[in-house]
Amino acid sequence: MNSTKLFILPITVALTLSACKSSQREISDDAVILKKDSTMPDTSKSFEYISEQFADLRILRYEIPGFNELTLQQKELLYYLSEAALCGRDIAWDQNYKYALTIRKTIDAIVENYKGDVNSADYKNFIVYAKRVWFSRGIHHHYSSDKFMPECSQAYFTSLIKGLDISLLPVKQSETKEAFITRMMPVIFDPKVAPKKVSLDATKDMIINSAVNFYEGVNQEEAIAFYEKLTDRKSKTPVMVGLNSKLIKENGVIVEKTWKVGGMYTKAIEKIVYWLERAITVAENPEQKSALEKLVVFYKSGSLKDFDDYNIAWVKDSNSAIDVVNGFIEVYEDPLGKKGSYESVVSVKDFEASKRIAAIGANAQWFEDHSTLFPEHKKKNVKGISAKVINAVMESGDAAPSTPIGINLPNNEWIRETHGSKSVNLGNIVEAYDKAAGGSVVNEFYYNEAIKKNVLDYAGLADKLHTDMHEVIGHASGQIEPGVGQPHETLKNYASSLEEARADLVALYYLMDEKLVELGVMPSLDYGKAAYDEYITKGLMVQLSRLKLGDNIEEAHMRNRQMVAAWAYEKGKSQNVIEKKTENGKTYFVIKDYLKLRVLFGELLREIQRIKSKGDYQAGKNLIENYGVKVDLALHKEVLERYKKLSMAPYQGFIQPKLIPVMEGGKIVNVKVEYPTNFMNQMLEYGKNYSYLPAEN
Ligand code: ZN
Repeated sequence: MNSTKLFILPITVALTLSACKSSQREISDDAVILKKDSTMPDTSKSFEYISEQFADLRILRYEIPGFNELTLQQKELLYYLSEAALCGRDIAWDQNYKYALTIRKTIDAIVENYKGDVNSADYKNFIVYAKRVWFSRGIHHHYSSDKFMPECSQAYFTSLIKGLDISLLPVKQSETKEAFITRMMPVIFDPKVAPKKVSLDATKDMIINSAVNFYEGVNQEEAIAFYEKLTDRKSKTPVMVGLNSKLIKENGVIVEKTWKVGGMYTKAIEKIVYWLERAITVAENPEQKSALEKLVVFYKSGSLKDFDDYNIAWVKDSNSAIDVVNGFIEVYEDPLGKKGSYESVVSVKDFEASKRIAAIGANAQWFEDHSTLFPEHKKKNVKGISAKVINAVMESGDAAPSTPIGINLPNNEWIRETHGSKSVNLGNIVEAYDKAAGGSVVNEFYYNEAIKKNVLDYAGLADKLHTDMHEVIGHASGQIEPGVGQPHETLKNYASSLEEARADLVALYYLMDEKLVELGVMPSLDYGKAAYDEYITKGLMVQLSRLKLGDNIEEAHMRNRQMVAAWAYEKGKSQNVIEKKTENGKTYFVIKDYLKLRVLFGELLREIQRIKSKGDYQAGKNLIENYGVKVDLALHKEVLERYKKLSMAPYQGFIQPKLIPVMEGGKIVNVKVEYPTNFMNQMLEYGKNYSYLPAEN
């Protein structure tokens, strides 16, 4: 499965997929850090990034920098694309669970019409449930995929429904209110009904045991057999079979219900197409226009060949300031990995941040030549990997409220190989996470005031530079010796961890190099020092907050970080490069000599490149197993206790901005942006204005 998204689920659990390497998942560590980026123009002093916190969720807000400086045509385009994004919202709900829309419509009706005491404990508990449903687009946790139940009683929930006029409820034709309640209460309250959104337990029928609404009356064996017949293994340009349909058995026959104009979800898709057609009229250039036109063709035909054509055109559209992802994109919600969840991300390029990446990329050969690699492992002709920074303007469907921080599309492998892909980081989303994180983690885990101040002042930009260097230079660097196979063959299950370590070490090595200062992307080496403090503290301590006590580290990025940090700690012991201190029962790792640490990072980089270049499985295994897997139980326990005291909700999502057209004489003369503050109000507004699908599909 290709991975195309890099999420932050900050704090405890930031799992996800990457903007960095296609086809592997990456954990973002931004989550675990806190930072303040002193180099960003602070135009947003008054902007409140945090809205509220409930259950295990925190609601944030983000800003769109530079929106007012865009041309009218660009703003108009963003407005149309944002409307298109929101019109598909219901699809993502219905895909999650067959009764998700029924429950949402019921909840919306209750909240809109409730006249009782909003401060009663029962109602407050009900509202927490409502918010959780809105956040997860259904009754299953967006991350764990487990069903969650209301905190209020079934009797109370029933009384709320009974208080509503039946015309406000999503009842079936000629269904009484009582019958509706009898039908829906087990769906909401019975833990045995649809307990899991996506089951990946391969010992059971994953389709039967998953609540997602991609299959009906079909078991796993039948679905696999159905798609096996449609799969053309000889094709050099295979479509992603099954991507845009529900598989259903009707009168004993298995058929696909395609999501298209005139097909399943037509009411929502017609609206998407309407707004895309408006967008086409104000496209920035012929490439963008062509891509949007092809997307409309796909939504009308439902042909996956048309979807491929669209994706090829979308990859070619590389010069536009505005970009959009809109379609059936990620397949993680389908246990068989075929069905695409609806999502849209509307964005505008961040020109400043993209300049930073370009400056680094333009010097890729210098970085290669000056690295610590053995000469025979250096590339003679290195090209940086292209990447850009975008700012989100609107996110919908599978991309909201919980959002990726990086996207790498399209997913179809042959298109990636033949036509390339687009890799983007969502700058303003990362910025919002950073600003919302505050200083509590830094305060808790870093040793003294001077270090804390450095990390808070410098780590924001340092992290961005680390990511840029890791992505653009790190993964592009080095070469394999002739005749040695690819890393996934030679290094096997250690290949990913070692590759991430290699990319991290390239970044770390150069973060203490004057070259970045010379290039004008980093003001001073103080930023590099902050990056080192962060890397060591995170790698040896903070990241353990994501693990359950007693677990070993399995995820590739976490293994890589601990391995690098623990190796450097041990190798530098005799020279006291990193000192382990314990004060008031709290452990700290304090860097005593940044330049010596840099030398150690350089040594480890050379060794890991050697392992990759020669395919030295045993050496790679030893590094990861000895330094990256096992966890010091006492330290882990301490970290979990210290972390818990910070009371930070582990998952976060966003309230979306609102684009408002200013009309004069039937024409748009301006588009204004507002930043709503209330999550519930936005959910109710979306439910009212963008609900195009019936309760059950
Ligand atoms: Zn990477």
